[in-house]
Amino acid sequence: MPCLFCKIIAKEIPAEIVFENDQVLAFLDIGPVSEGHTLVVPKRHAENLSSGSEEDAQSLIFAVHDLAPRILQAVGADGYNLGMNHGESAGQEVMHTHMHIMPRKSGMHRSFTKLRPSAHEIHIVAEKIRLQQ
Ligand code: 5GP
Ligand code: ZN
Repeated sequence: MPCLFCKIIAKEIPAEIVFENDQVLAFLDIGPVSEGHTLVVPKRHAENLSSGSEEDAQSLIFAVHDLAPRILQAVGADGYNLGMNHGESAGQEVMHTHMHIMPRKSGMHRSFTKLRPSAHEIHIVAEKIRLQQ
């Protein structure tokens, strides 16, 4: 199973999981652009949104709908950017459909530069989000 996100879904490699149901998994990005930056992925492998099923596309946006407010609450944010890099030309690096949820706080610079927090720092953020569930 060569796909990185399939390995995370199969729990073969660790991730800070903040939400899971039968269709999707959500976990914190290791290179966040803001505190609480989360990736939401369909469990069924597809390279991108359009090559996956309509059902998985629905499950993805339903999960974003439910999860984003909890993430915002956990990190004290009041807005968020949603992002999807669809295809290499658009900057997609992991070829398994994923939606980025990037929380934003009023008055803070809206940066898309990846930060490199420690595993411990990411764990602390994940704990805050999990407590909101
Ligand atoms: P893309 O550019 O494909 O839309 O974004 C892929 C995202 O996956 C990047 O934001 C990157 O930081 C994140 N990422 C890459 N490898 C890993 C990993 O092993 N674990 C986690 N949690 N995120 C990863
Ligand atoms: Zn995959």
